[in-house]
Amino acid sequence: MSAEIQDRVVDRSKMNVSDEVAIQITNMNKWYGDFHVLRDINLTVQRGERIVIAGPSGSGKSTMIRCINRLEEHQKGQIIVDGTELSSDLKNIDKIRSEVGMCFQHFNLFPHLTILENCTLAPMWVRKTPKKEAEELAMHFLEKVKIPDQANKYPGMLSGGQQQRVAIARSLCMQPRIMLFDEPTSALDPEMIKEVLDTMVTLAEEGMTMLCVTHEMGFARQVADRVIFMDQGQIVEQNEPEEFFNNPKSERTKLFLSQIL
Ligand code: ADP
Ligand code: MG
Repeated sequence: MSAEIQDRVVDRSKMNVSDEVAIQITNMNKWYGDFHVLRDINLTVQRGERIVIAGPSGSGKSTMIRCINRLEEHQKGQIIVDGTELSSDLKNIDKIRSEVGMCFQHFNLFPHLTILENCTLAPMWVRKTPKKEAEELAMHFLEKVKIPDQANKYPGMLSGGQQQRVAIARSLCMQPRIMLFDEPTSALDPEMIKEVLDTMVTLAEEGMTMLCVTHEMGFARQVADRVIFMDQGQIVEQNEPEEFFNNPKSERTKLFLSQIL
């Protein structure tokens, strides 16, 4: 499972973590009805930091990262993104969403739009970027994810790995300062996982602040500054990758690692 990017030497020269706080989560709690899904989450993410979030299915990983761009609403505690607090204030939500890109397990491309149109839609309608400029931006990011030649095709004509790279390019077209990934390779065939991880490594090398829910522990070892382990709605343990994998502290982390490694 962890062999996919081992042939790539990760360039950490620009992967500096700054003192600036990108995301500050304080005593955050969330319920789905009566179900207490997130319990007292405290997490500070520095600008330029790359965090991998691991944990068993149902532990609240998706819910936590979805709270960061308000796809889910928390009920208690505080989430501050780039200095703006997530509250019911719609202006704040719009601001944060324009700074935080998200990439899901299922790519969620618009099937009736071409790859290029998928990438230009939000910049044109949300940012009011003129069409020509939006297209230039889209081509720039399609080149970055190595599929500029697919620009005029429809999503259904592309492989899963290509579609996921389009989804990443589409997010980048909004020029986010933070990228959230929720199991971006889980729905892909093994031979396509590497090309998507490669794209994510490139983003990491360029200094993007990233939170990635993933089971790709090779990626975590090579790219993450910190691995966070969640279980039953709580952050149970967090550490730099070497320590996390070689010297896990809690029994729950040890059990999890013994099952996936
Ligand atoms: P993970 O991503 O770690 O697998 P999730 O955040 O998706 O976990 O889910 C955490 C828990 O919350 C699970 O028990 C799940 O069944 C529950 N859950 C997720 N979404 C909803 C929802 N919309 N309504 C009610 N329960 C939910
Ligand atoms: Mg999930």
